[in-house]
Amino acid sequence: MADLVSHPDEVRVVSKRFGKGATNIDRYLELDGYKAVQKALGMQPDAIVNEVKNSGLRGRGGAGFNTGMKWSFVPKQSPKPKYVLCNGDESEPGTCKDRLIFEHDPHAMIEGVIIAGLAVGATTGYIYIRGEYRYLLEIMQKAIADAYSRGYLGKNIFGSDRHFDIYWHGGAGAYEVGEESALMESLEGKRGIPRIRPPFPAVVGLWGGPTVINNAETLASVPHIILGGADWYANLGPPKNGGTRLFCLSGHLEHPGVYELPMGYNLKRMIYEVGGGILNGRKLKAVVPGGSSTPILSPEEIDVAMDFDSLTKVGSMLGSGGVVVLDETTCMVKFALRIMKFYQHESCGWCIPCREGTDWLKKTLTRFHAGGGLKKDIDNIQYLSENMLGRTFCPLGDAAAMPTISIVKKFRKEFEEHLDGRPCPFEKQGKIEELPVMV
Ligand code: SF4
Repeated sequence: MADLVSHPDEVRVVSKRFGKGATNIDRYLELDGYKAVQKALGMQPDAIVNEVKNSGLRGRGGAGFNTGMKWSFVPKQSPKPKYVLCNGDESEPGTCKDRLIFEHDPHAMIEGVIIAGLAVGATTGYIYIRGEYRYLLEIMQKAIADAYSRGYLGKNIFGSDRHFDIYWHGGAGAYEVGEESALMESLEGKRGIPRIRPPFPAVVGLWGGPTVINNAETLASVPHIILGGADWYANLGPPKNGGTRLFCLSGHLEHPGVYELPMGYNLKRMIYEVGGGILNGRKLKAVVPGGSSTPILSPEEIDVAMDFDSLTKVGSMLGSGGVVVLDETTCMVKFALRIMKFYQHESCGWCIPCREGTDWLKKTLTRFHAGGGLKKDIDNIQYLSENMLGRTFCPLGDAAAMPTISIVKKFRKEFEEHLDGRPCPFEKQGKIEELPVMV
């Protein structure tokens, strides 16, 4: 079980039932549970889609696409069954928010999946949970079984003429399967590698049927939007960035944890007020704003609103909301190496720029950090990373390249300090500490 934290600036929407025993279906009902789906049963499908679209809810998995808009791409008529797929394959280093929803509020996930089904005309949903989150499967299984026993799932849900079934599925531990088309391959029992797109899942998805696939936090937000209304939700955040976000604060912070804050919350305040400032009063060196795949920010760049559009303007991304804080004791070469080791290991190997690029970068960074770096390596690391960008089937290639480019660009001096056979200056001075534990 993960520890819960809190801060007065939090606006609890998705997390409002955390720690309140809502895994019990009766307790969930006491806390407004299953009211949203009953309301949605009385709405026209287009009205549900429009409500979600107007709320400004954007994908919480990382892409940040308007959720209602995504739903509107599902064809109204289809010769094949339609599906709703909840992506709970949370694997981005620095991100650990979806697991809290599964752990504390599994029925909200069920409600979100049913409402998405009502919106697009699907009658089957799948909840795919990351393989390493084994302990959550039992919680989800029980929640689904309880919902069936009450008539909230199955035939004639809530006494209506609508049917809806939900199945859970545990992954096998591949980061790559978090990519939506790879996740569908995995769910179909095949090797989890991406599909070539188009066609997109909304038209040709699971078993060839039109499929809505959304991140777990995204779907868990939907019942609150249906009950509270699009305007209420949209006004929680800045324009086009509606609602709140579960931010995962980790690294060299006094108070790391998962906090629910309005979209657009200032990153500097998030670090120094919500997160309690840098551990042991040390100086800040860099911040990963949205999970390990996002370009890092220097201390001069952190006075920024944490929403999709503001982060893009400063050359980074909001991503999955995983904020990793690095203090002055961090060796940025080692940090780049740590990230690259992860992506090299997780590359599915299908396309050459990703498979070979991550491997070469890992080898070069390993040699570099060990004191065998050459001056030309610095430019080569940059050049190789830039040539991976946009040249791969799925975003994993970009995910490996983007932080690396930003680290070399912003911390070139640290790379130079490793040259001429010198050992890592941080380890030499005994300054280095274990880097933040990444999920
Ligand atoms: Fe596989 Fe990497 Fe290509 Fe994605 S980018 S398809 S993970 S080889």
